[in-house]
Amino acid sequence: MRITEIKSFLLSKPRDLHIVKIETDEGIYGIGEAGCSTREHGQDGVLRHLRAFLLGMDPMQVEHIWQVCYRSAYYEGGRVITGVMAAIDIALYDIIGKKLGVPVYQLLGGACRDKIFGFVTVGGLNDSHCQDRVRAAVDERWPAIRFSPADSIVPRALRVDPTLKDTTNVFDVRESMAATAELYTDIWQTTDKRVALGIDYHHRFSVAEAAQFCQMIPRGSLSFLEEPIRNENPEAYATLRTMTDVPFAIGEEWPSKWAALPYIERGLTNFARVDICCIGGLTEAKKVAGWCEAHYIDVMPHNPIGPVCTAATIHYAAAINNFNWVEMVPAFNEGASDVFPEMPKRQGTHYPLPVRPGLGVEFDEDAALKYPMTFYEHPHLQRPDGSYTNW
Ligand SMILES: [Mg+2]
Repeated sequence: MRITEIKSFLLSKPRDLHIVKIETDEGIYGIGEAGCSTREHGQDGVLRHLRAFLLGMDPMQVEHIWQVCYRSAYYEGGRVITGVMAAIDIALYDIIGKKLGVPVYQLLGGACRDKIFGFVTVGGLNDSHCQDRVRAAVDERWPAIRFSPADSIVPRALRVDPTLKDTTNVFDVRESMAATAELYTDIWQTTDKRVALGIDYHHRFSVAEAAQFCQMIPRGSLSFLEEPIRNENPEAYATLRTMTDVPFAIGEEWPSKWAALPYIERGLTNFARVDICCIGGLTEAKKVAGWCEAHYIDVMPHNPIGPVCTAATIHYAAAINNFNWVEMVPAFNEGASDVFPEMPKRQGTHYPLPVRPGLGVEFDEDAALKYPMTFYEHPHLQRPDGSYTNW
């Protein structure tokens, strides 16, 4: 079998997505998704470089193709490159699954479980309906609930139109810490203690702020604090680790096994937030899961984009033993059913084991062309003094 064409689709349905389709001389196609969101045009350019040598290669050689894509440029790696490599890798697994007539998880070692549970994100702790959403989530028997911090951020996206530039979205860290700690404590006190609770702080703290926030919430109440600080520097996390015993969920931005290495080997992450569409695909994600297994760390995959990412993540979660919950954003998947007429079907709090050969996702090219990409840009936040801080 040979790769005959690689197509790139930049679309917005319901959010910006970069979908890659690989065609073969046997009429089988595979579908993949690239995960460096908001920098999709950069990914598209990388794909043009890779396409030049991928055409004609055997799509069954997944590991070999991964090595060539990663190492052929003098400047190895980087999130934009590994995002594209992820799309290629996922598409190759889709092709091989279809060729052999088996779901992708069978190619990864077979199923370790019957169903893949998710965690639900109920929004900001200061949202007026937060308490109601938590009660509903507990009633629906979600095993884990994640909150966004309480703050005054308006989740407005920028577009490339400069007249829409947002210069008023202020993140006041002291205000957020105080409100989040108080509201979280209230909710925790009345919530079924069997449900795991987490907060995603989206790397908006300094080390000192993160340590203090952890000391402001009841000891033992928080199952995980997700990304309290930025993750470029594991030494900073090592320092923070000495200042709190709250478990951390880190890893959604890892662009390779090498980025994950210090976090796993030094016990800096307790829940590995592997993002298959960022880290370089199923090939790399499976290696990282094995590394986590050796350190008794569970994988809690990041899954924030489209149905192809979700499908790949479900197959991955099925085939690794050290998994707890997958991130679920149903609106992003179920809102794109015309572009993806076939995709994994959620059943309440879980996905059942896929049954179709390959990923189990069908892609309608003509439908995709109806939704050109809209140049989404995450909100640009500022501190009260006007300096930039992370969204
Ligand atoms: Mg996160």
